[in-house]
Amino acid sequence: MPFDPELATKAWMATLSGAARAKSDAYFEGGYWLLLWGFVVTLVSAWIMLRFGLVARISTWAQRRTSRAWLRSFLFAVPFLLLSSLITLPWDIYTGFVREQAYGLSNMTFTAWLGEDLIGLAISTVTLSLLFIAIHAVIRRAPRDWWLLGTAVAVAGMTFAVAIAPLFIEPLFNKYVPLPAGPVRQQILSMARANGVPADNVYLVDASRQSKRISANVAGLFGTTRIALNDNLLKQPADEIRAVMGHEMGHYVLNHVVKFLVSLTLILAVFFLVTARLLPWVVARHGPGWGITGMDDPAILAPALVIIAGLALLATPLFNTMTRTQEIEADRFGLNAARAPDSFASIAMKLSQYRKIEPGPWEEAIFFDHPSGHTRVLTAMRWKAEHLGQADVK
Ligand SMILES: [Zn+2]
Repeated sequence: MPFDPELATKAWMATLSGAARAKSDAYFEGGYWLLLWGFVVTLVSAWIMLRFGLVARISTWAQRRTSRAWLRSFLFAVPFLLLSSLITLPWDIYTGFVREQAYGLSNMTFTAWLGEDLIGLAISTVTLSLLFIAIHAVIRRAPRDWWLLGTAVAVAGMTFAVAIAPLFIEPLFNKYVPLPAGPVRQQILSMARANGVPADNVYLVDASRQSKRISANVAGLFGTTRIALNDNLLKQPADEIRAVMGHEMGHYVLNHVVKFLVSLTLILAVFFLVTARLLPWVVARHGPGWGITGMDDPAILAPALVIIAGLALLATPLFNTMTRTQEIEADRFGLNAARAPDSFASIAMKLSQYRKIEPGPWEEAIFFDHPSGHTRVLTAMRWKAEHLGQADVK
């Protein structure tokens, strides 16, 4: 009997069945609705603050504190963003903590989770407020045509954030240490050298602090790029670790972070163009009722964020396809680097604990930011079929 990739994939699929499959399907399918409800929550929270004059009051307060326009933008953004987060906190607790606990994916107590959530909140409030100072300055000079320069400013900010994240942001949540000595370290560093990944850029991260998920990631930009293998993954068999690290090295070697930023720039330009056209209309129509005096009023941040959240929801399939395409590329790179198709299939089955394993083709195109377990196993089995009998294939 010749080796048949389709049949081999079926055999792998059969190893996840019954209650375990129903659970991971339910967890992942529930996530589709969270996208929609998350937008509704954003919408309702903004509406409450606009309708009941909270936005207007914060803006008046900021304008009384100072006559400097840039400082007004900042003094509005900070309390406004904090209040928005307070209103949506119950939703965050449900999606970020309650639901993860219910599916047995979290390793955190509520206090620990809340502590990390608040650190994240502080970082995003400061970052967004600083970004708003710059973008609002551009808007005040060109109320209709700010979108192009606004995109440039936002991308510069984003690039800076990605570059410094491994140095200043990630250490706030986890500890990153060099890989411990041993055969696993030797094998991974050997694969790194063979593929042009600097060996001192490979780390171990204590992700089990937060969750049971097996994972690894590539972060940083320019000089700060590093690959981190998480401690949940380190407990798996050596060839499975190699299979995942081959995939992560694919992200590194194929420059996925930079390519993603370039694509994001194009999408952001479209988002800002639409916002630049819609926002003056919204302000002219509803401004008097909400107490927004014009485009130079920092209060425009409230309707602007709703427009951008709506566009982001509509662009979900696009974002997912951008990342999923990179993930498929990394999968193929990893198969070629690690040459362990069965180990890769085995780890793909384990990842299906939190990702629906066999979606329909449209479902995968719209909702999946990584290939499904089925796609990954089939890719591995096709690779295996072309390399049967080769001595170094595991
Ligand atoms: Zn990946």
